Amino acid sequence: MSSPLSATFLLHLVNQPIIGFHKDDLGDWVAELRCGHGQHVRHQPPLSSRPWVLSLEGRQQYMGTVLNCKKCDEEQ
Ligand SMILES: [Zn+2]
Repeated sequence: MSSPLSATFLLHLVNQPIIGFHKDDLGDWVAELRCGHGQHVRHQPPLSSRPWVLSLEGRQQYMGTVLNCKKCDEEQ
């Protein structure tokens, strides 16, 4: 393969701000992005350490934070 991780690739990442949160059927937190997609924001240390997502206060602090939306990336 000759496809190095270049700056061009990074430019294609789509970042979307968080506009809300909800829990999925399994009780995992999902960030709602402005594009209409959802993205899991699990707290599963050591893989995903997001203790802030467990508290209302923490989630409010992360409102408006941008996440890379993988679904938007795929749609490009
Ligand atoms: Zn999206």
